[in-house]
Amino acid sequence: MIRSLLVLTLVIAAGPAARAEADDAALEARVREGAAAVQGKVVQWRRDIHQHPELGDQETRTSRLVADHLRGLGLEVRTGVGGTGVVGVLKGAKPGRTVALRADMDALPVQEPDGLPFASKAKQQYLGKDVPVMHACGHDAHTAMLMGVAEVLAGLKGELPGTVLFVFQPAEEGSSVVTPASGKTWGAARMLEEGAFKDPKPDAVFGLHVMPGALGQISYRAGATTASSDDLQILVTGKQGHGGMPWNTIDPITTSAQIILGLQTVVSRRADLTASPVVVTVGTINGGSRGNVVPETVSMAGTIRTYDDNVREKVVSGVKLAAEKIAEGAGAKADVRITKMYPPTMNDEALAARMRPVLRRAANGRVAEAPPSGATEDFSLFAQAAPGLYVFLGVTPRDQDPATAAPNHNPKFFVDESSLGVGTRTLASLAVAELSPAPDADKTQPHGQPFAPEER
Ligand SMILES: [Zn+2]
Ligand SMILES: [Zn+2]
Repeated sequence: MIRSLLVLTLVIAAGPAARAEADDAALEARVREGAAAVQGKVVQWRRDIHQHPELGDQETRTSRLVADHLRGLGLEVRTGVGGTGVVGVLKGAKPGRTVALRADMDALPVQEPDGLPFASKAKQQYLGKDVPVMHACGHDAHTAMLMGVAEVLAGLKGELPGTVLFVFQPAEEGSSVVTPASGKTWGAARMLEEGAFKDPKPDAVFGLHVMPGALGQISYRAGATTASSDDLQILVTGKQGHGGMPWNTIDPITTSAQIILGLQTVVSRRADLTASPVVVTVGTINGGSRGNVVPETVSMAGTIRTYDDNVREKVVSGVKLAAEKIAEGAGAKADVRITKMYPPTMNDEALAARMRPVLRRAANGRVAEAPPSGATEDFSLFAQAAPGLYVFLGVTPRDQDPATAAPNHNPKFFVDESSLGVGTRTLASLAVAELSPAPDADKTQPHGQPFAPEER
């Protein structure tokens, strides 16, 4: 008591800045207690959602679970935002900024092996086909953790400065109902179109993804974090005929082979290595019916990945030109369709720098620099609408090597639930810290050299 009186006296003597800092520290301590208290519930929600996975744009059960929970906490709740999306608004009693926290809710068309008592037996339609469904990317954990964060912060409403937006997003992995070629949107894009970030407009947005990594470790990087992704479709049309008399045909098979190899020179000869690495992958090729028939057409599908918007534009136009001209050189025709999907996820440099001490405290000092990921994330769209920070949480059990653990999307992908407490605490602490940034926050230095050598 005497000690706290002394601290109080010192704080009052030191003026408003020190008082604000003491308030923030007290709030962060309450967040830590709250996250610990809600841990059991987070695990129960995660198991429930895991056992009842739903594909992109079909997350009706999950969405209802989330909305009921948020309403029970007294939040203002908007449902049906971008399909099955849910937005919860928590208004703190004190004035402050607005911060958005995002979790994705969708599962994947993957068959879960037996093993867990709450393993999925679910089946759903994926673009018209019956498929098994599994939370193989860990979005069950994301949804459960954000439900936990909502409970923790709702309990602190009286002391909370500003507004927290809880964004539960459908179809991060893509829609199971509409295709990219349909021209329709899904996931983050659709939520933003339908006003997820309007009224109130967030000043910052945070997201977290589970992945193989040291248990409970948070990793992140400033700047480009996940790659851009563009969908590539090529239809090569030649002239059908006899395989023994190819001079009477225009062969789309040899033309396609040339195109596939030619596209790699867009990567190696045209893309600026110093600006961004690039990947062009052709993942499917279909054509022909038998060995002695030159077919009329060959279709191919692929993906284009970069970390830089200018490089992205150049590669997209280079791929189209290369495919069309190679086909033309063979007397064939290439119809190239590139659908822009997601930009790279850019972690805001100043926000990342500001949040570094918060992340260190939330993860008990276990913070590391993440390498850029070749995966893609539609969190990138939220991070274009407000300064964003997207971090990774390591979920590999202590007795396993993260380097050999099954990756996300693998049926054996495993989330050690003892990491969920760190994730809940991290998201809640980030929100609280950014609601009332330190008075000198604008003077924060660029990210510079934030990681000690042992963290790299
Ligand atoms: Zn995924
Ligand atoms: Zn994911």
